[in-house]
Amino acid sequence: MEHILERFLTYARMDTESDPESDTTPSTAKQWDLANYLAEELERIGMQDVTIDENAYIMATLPATTDKEVPVIGFISHFDTSPDFTGAGVNPRVIRNYDGKDIVLNEEKNIVLSPSYFEEMRQYKGQTLVVTDGTTLLGADDKAGITEIVSAMEYLLQHPEIEHGKVRVGFTPDEEIGRGAHKFDVKAFGAEWAYTMDGSTIGELEYENFNAAGVKISVKGKSVHPGYAKGKMVNASRILNELISCLPEYETPEFTSGREGFYHLTSINGDIEHASAQMIIRDHDSTLFKKRKKLLRRITAELNHKYNNAIELEIKDQYYNMREKIEPVYHIVETAKEAMESLGITPIIKPIRGGTDGSQLSYMGLPCPNIFAGGHNFHGKYEYVPLESMQKAVEVIVKICELTAKKA
Ligand SMILES: [Zn+2]
Repeated sequence: MEHILERFLTYARMDTESDPESDTTPSTAKQWDLANYLAEELERIGMQDVTIDENAYIMATLPATTDKEVPVIGFISHFDTSPDFTGAGVNPRVIRNYDGKDIVLNEEKNIVLSPSYFEEMRQYKGQTLVVTDGTTLLGADDKAGITEIVSAMEYLLQHPEIEHGKVRVGFTPDEEIGRGAHKFDVKAFGAEWAYTMDGSTIGELEYENFNAAGVKISVKGKSVHPGYAKGKMVNASRILNELISCLPEYETPEFTSGREGFYHLTSINGDIEHASAQMIIRDHDSTLFKKRKKLLRRITAELNHKYNNAIELEIKDQYYNMREKIEPVYHIVETAKEAMESLGITPIIKPIRGGTDGSQLSYMGLPCPNIFAGGHNFHGKYEYVPLESMQKAVEVIVKICELTAKKA
């Protein structure tokens, strides 16, 4: 296990924060440091066909140990970290034999990781936790996933007696800014299906995510001296406000959970002459997703009738629920479930209230459920990962390879 820990700490210390403002791939040059390191490491542990392309996408092959016809499967994770919180100068700390109490992350700044707030910490009593020093994120999302995949491949290379088919691994940049899958060469990857190792709590297994659209609303007004405005002024801010208040009041992120969708106002700006807003629409159900877009269009049309076409509305689909692509090959979820159960892990299957690279990849022809990587409290200073969960994830990967060969 120490080996896994050392590997994770090495990755975590390398700054790989991505940047949504950048047009390049990877979005930040520093992601190359870890990318190059990983490509070398894959070579060093004995992986074959290690490639790193001009966009820093890494692929490698674990050759089959059997002559049986086994489907080629893959494991994928991302090496960038979220721009939501700084990833520069990550100084991970290792808490051995966690006592189930508060962990002071930073004494000076009084930053405490507490099970009275993060209740799930209690289940890790006695385990080894990797935490931050309170000034950065940890980057377990998704360096834990990378650690697990590399460690599982290393284990399989050292145990050729375990029968498995050809396995492909893929590491991507820029997942956190929604672009991890964009330049992923599904054909070159050449797997029938894959798993992203990018979930949170041990046991998580996900194959349902939101359907997603982004919305831009822009309103043009007419500014006139308020004393002489009767019949002349068009107040863009007021019109925008009217539009937003026409949307269902309780269908927002703060009032919904599970499979309930929402409209989420993410920004608003305005004066009399011009007002604009951005919004996202989310729903697991594709019919309801369409209905939501339709409702917004209808409200806009009605207000445009009332206000002489002052409103411009742009709705762009962002990603879709992978469930549609996974259900026809549901056995790939079953295999992951079986792998977990055989290792004494209770599978937690629930819909993701967000998207993953796997959802995009599924629509690109590579069905791709998501498996736990073990970390918690992603994208912030309270992020932590239990070493035991990483170890279990390694075992799950190994088991999936084994089961896939057994079932072939
Ligand atoms: Zn992630």
